[in-house]
Amino acid sequence: MSGTVTPVLEGRVALVHGASSGIGAAAARVFARHGATVVLTARREDRLRALVEQLRATGADASHHVLDVRDGEAVRRVVERTVERHGRLDAAFNNAGVGLPRTPMHLIEDATYEHVVGTNVTGVWNCMRHELAAMVEGKGGAIVNTSSVGGLVASSTGAPYIASKHAVIGLTKAAAVEYASHGIRVNAIAPGLTRSEMIDAWFASSPEAEERAHRSAPQGRAADPEEVAETAAWLCSDLASFVTGATVPVDGGRTAW
Ligand code: NAP
Repeated sequence: MSGTVTPVLEGRVALVHGASSGIGAAAARVFARHGATVVLTARREDRLRALVEQLRATGADASHHVLDVRDGEAVRRVVERTVERHGRLDAAFNNAGVGLPRTPMHLIEDATYEHVVGTNVTGVWNCMRHELAAMVEGKGGAIVNTSSVGGLVASSTGAPYIASKHAVIGLTKAAAVEYASHGIRVNAIAPGLTRSEMIDAWFASSPEAEERAHRSAPQGRAADPEEVAETAAWLCSDLASFVTGATVPVDGGRTAW
């Protein structure tokens, strides 16, 4: 074999939501490495600005918008500006999300439930609606939503999070079926335990939780965020051209156990 391999997202314009840390920041790096122009969003501008500078230093085309995904009108404006600036939207990674403290269901406040569902479900809804509109106009595209192992199976605490991540899979399937005829693919990923600031802080405060978490994973470790981001990049690429409506576990075998 000879010749060079074309990066799988070469020439694509991709929106990455929840890009200021963890899996989303890793996705910004991975998508750019695979050749995409990346437009990054989250609420913490200092993080986004620093990441955009890092990416530009590697020669990538990167920019950012401060965005709260709970604000549908703000999401619409970001999608519109992306299309105005780059001519189209080819891919979107709807990854913004929040967890919650491990509290028994009967002790969870309504406001906590609303915060989790508002971010994880309404946020994905807001993003998908406006991205789909742009992709219908552009005659195709690929969307990946971040669910979780908690979108496939329950755990003994965290009901609003579990419900929100199941809902992400429902929205993904509905959109995949409805928009397949427009050349738009919609998939979800279901990460297992993945190293992020949130998880690192939890492990630092409870080494016993870390050991328990690793014991429940067949590979005996948490994922690096880039391992999760690579799956999202693959789903956004033409390599996954016949994959739609799927939820891909990226969990080191956690849900196979
Ligand atoms: P993280 O580092 O805390 O990242 C969460 C991202 O979402 C941040 O960029 C955050 O940015 C953004 N975000 C949160 N609320 C937002 C809002 N209202 N509007 C816009 N952006 C918002 O944690 P992570 O682990 O990478 O999580 C990423 C996704 O993976 C989440 O959907 C999470 O549920 C899912 N997940 C994580 C794991 C894991 O073990 N780490 C496992 C399964 C699923 P700002 O704070 O700057 O807005």
